[in-house]
Amino acid sequence: MSINYAASDALYKRASHVIPGGVSSNNRANWQPHPLFYQKAQGAYVWDVDGNKYIDYVLGRGPLITGHSHPRILDAIARQYQAGQFFAGQTELEIVLAEKITNLVPGAEMVRFCNSGSEAVHVALRLARSATGREKIIRFEGHYHGWFDNIAWGFNAPDDTDRDTGALMAMSRGQPVGDAGNILSLCWNDADALERLISSQAQDIAAVVTEPIMFNSFWSNIPPATGYLARVRALCDHYRIPLIFDEIQTGFRTDIGGAQARYGVTPDITTFAKALGGPVCLAAVCGKEPYMRLLAGGPTLHTGTYNAFPPFLAGAITNLDILAENSGAALAKIHLMSESLRAGLQDIATGTTLPMQVRSSPGAVTTTFRATSSVARDYRAARREINQPLLAMWHAALQARGVRITPEGLWYVSTAHGVPDIDYSLEQAAAAVAMLEQARRRL
Ligand code: PMP
Repeated sequence: MSINYAASDALYKRASHVIPGGVSSNNRANWQPHPLFYQKAQGAYVWDVDGNKYIDYVLGRGPLITGHSHPRILDAIARQYQAGQFFAGQTELEIVLAEKITNLVPGAEMVRFCNSGSEAVHVALRLARSATGREKIIRFEGHYHGWFDNIAWGFNAPDDTDRDTGALMAMSRGQPVGDAGNILSLCWNDADALERLISSQAQDIAAVVTEPIMFNSFWSNIPPATGYLARVRALCDHYRIPLIFDEIQTGFRTDIGGAQARYGVTPDITTFAKALGGPVCLAAVCGKEPYMRLLAGGPTLHTGTYNAFPPFLAGAITNLDILAENSGAALAKIHLMSESLRAGLQDIATGTTLPMQVRSSPGAVTTTFRATSSVARDYRAARREINQPLLAMWHAALQARGVRITPEGLWYVSTAHGVPDIDYSLEQAAAAVAMLEQARRRL
């Protein structure tokens, strides 16, 4: 199947002269056949500059849970833009949004707003360190908590290193090596390993930070093992270590109260971004009062010119209203649609000779290709024997058929996706798999 990317191709070449790699986030570089350029979006659909239309399961990598260009949200943003933009002061909007979050999320007694997930994690780590007077953070391989120097360690580990100690790898060149001394990275979903580590170093540990579902790293979308999060909570309680849930992926998608509501495990501090705001750039750190009140004047600092930007707060309030109204009907629909997508993709995976695997959590599905049928419980296992060339061909084949997923095989679902979109996408997925089978036979 041929598709024309000529206009994108020309813009990509032009962009590469003035924008490193032609992209403004390195995550956008890994696109087939090269980063594309887009011109408009509505509901579940986006159009690129060549006029190709796609059913969009990328959704800005998660934020657009209410779809593109939702008229109620655009209206709320526009009205506040007209009323006023920056005050370097407070608006009632931030109270309204904070009250909504504290009503919905079990672990949110107070809220502070910022602009990106990376920033929210930065605040959360600072609160934990300020509260405990300790410095070391326990994190888990394959969990992404943003790109800032003090946490972008230990995402990856060489396969041959010990599972318990995990040799720390920096995510980037240019990170100060000194920061690694404050990070301890473990395989996830292994409470015994966590207990061994905590019990040996408890007096130095400022926080345990985890995604409640290992959602985000390449090829994952791995749920916590039964009872795992509760054991992490119990260990943190026992050793008086703050527990941070990074719910930047799961927040308001897995459950309107976050994954913490779904699993019944309440962290001390939580970070949100993405689906909190919908089409606006907004993040939040929330948590139990004793931690959050550290920011109420005094020596623990959180500042930002752009924090709590009123038009974005207005958009986020409407976004959360849409998700929460009618007893959460919109989110229930998303979960239904993503379950149909998962079931249809699983049927395709079962029927093909390709090593295709399907995983999901409510509201998002992951497709991948691996040369093993075992079910991964942590990042090392998920990464092992991944068939990258097949994954890249799958991404390109779907895109050529008008179905847009992330290059890592992740499909986010929004309120705008309907049954016809899912049906069409599954037809195209079946055709893409048939094409990949043929291509493999020819190799
Ligand atoms: N934590 C998690 C779990 C994320 O998924 C992300 C973004 N993918 C971040 C933190 C960083 O958020 P941002 O890109 O907004 O800085």
